[in-house]
Amino acid sequence: MHSFHYSNNILHVEEISLKQIACEVGTPAYVYSASAIKNSFQKFQKAFVSLDHLICYATKANSNLAILRLLAQEGAGFDIVSGGELFKVLRAGGRADQCTFAGVGKLPHEIEYALEQGIYCFNVESEEELDVINEVARGLHCVAPIALRINPNVDAPTHRYIATGKNKNKFGIGLDRAESVYAQAAALPHLKIRGLQTHIGSQILTAGSFGEAVKKLTPLILKIKKEYGLEFFSLGGGIGINYQNVLENEESGLTLEKYATQVLQPLKALGLRILFEPGRFLVGNAGVLLTTALYRKETPTKKFLIVDAGMNDLIRPALYQGHHEIVPLQRQENRAFEKIDVVGPVCESGDFFAEDRLLPHLEPGETVAIMSAGAYGFTMASHYNSRPLPAEVLVEGKMMRVVRRRETWEDLVREEGNNF
Ligand SMILES: *Cc1c(COP(=O)(O)O)cnc(C)c1O
Repeated sequence: MHSFHYSNNILHVEEISLKQIACEVGTPAYVYSASAIKNSFQKFQKAFVSLDHLICYATKANSNLAILRLLAQEGAGFDIVSGGELFKVLRAGGRADQCTFAGVGKLPHEIEYALEQGIYCFNVESEEELDVINEVARGLHCVAPIALRINPNVDAPTHRYIATGKNKNKFGIGLDRAESVYAQAAALPHLKIRGLQTHIGSQILTAGSFGEAVKKLTPLILKIKKEYGLEFFSLGGGIGINYQNVLENEESGLTLEKYATQVLQPLKALGLRILFEPGRFLVGNAGVLLTTALYRKETPTKKFLIVDAGMNDLIRPALYQGHHEIVPLQRQENRAFEKIDVVGPVCESGDFFAEDRLLPHLEPGETVAIMSAGAYGFTMASHYNSRPLPAEVLVEGKMMRVVRRRETWEDLVREEGNNF
């Protein structure tokens, strides 16, 4: 059964009414389904059982400790992009030797921390970074395991802010320079070549793009494997999910079956351990943001519903024109529909969740769920407009747990001390 579903016309997550959660915790609040996360993870594991593989969950999608712990218990590794993420993963019980460290701007002290903890691999994005990692490893009298992130220059259709696989993007090392940069890495005494990595972007719905990336990289991978020895190839993350009509159709826009059909055989042919770095796929449809309507407002041309969540809580619509379904917690037959903008209280015209959306008529006081908010929701939240961060709740079956308490006004001033 779908983790989010109507029962007696009230929207539930697993076996709990979301109305009850809104009552107890208040709004805005993120609510996650543990079973939905486990199901997606297990589905991924199953699709690639025939392959020696490791799923390194992309921590940045949702780094709540309870979710990290849940995934660690399922056997996930973690793809991290900062020392802070590694710190959280270790705090949650994740294993350092199953962590890969990505990102174009790693700091020396982050590299040092990752080496001390014994991470599996640094995914390196430039020649200069190789030198810095080599220097830090020298200082610690150790050898740093590295992979190069290679940019296959494939066009994977997605929003331009989350496309990473083209030569014009800041990410990775170009295919044409890959061999010379591997040679440079091989010559540095405190580096050990362990793998080759790629990541072509996020929210990609065309399975063929992943197949194309593997195909374009295969000759290089085999060459580097022969020359220097490779332990793994990482295909990165980026598997798109469904954001439309999610209550009727939970299946990802790009089903895992389609993805596996494209990549399984070519990956097997490499004869390497394969890493995957899904983020959104594992948590995106496992979370919602609950928000309550505050006011209705009409101009001669527009209707607005103002809600208590804002772009500081969920920035995807403002940042990526991201679409999220909005559904009332109380379903009523015969409710009239109207075209309306759903907007937050933040002082920005970009602060909206829906524009000219056909929705059932909603009155102030009513709580709705903004669907598919489990990935890049809370992790991108800010205090803009001095708004405390929302609460987070994790549900499993009949059990609910507040896994991050709602911030207070005191939390807003604590770090600024008394020196003003
Ligand atoms: C963001 C990111 C991911 C995860 O992307 P999703 O679209 O959430 O699957 C994986 N690998 C790297 C290197 C990333 O930067």
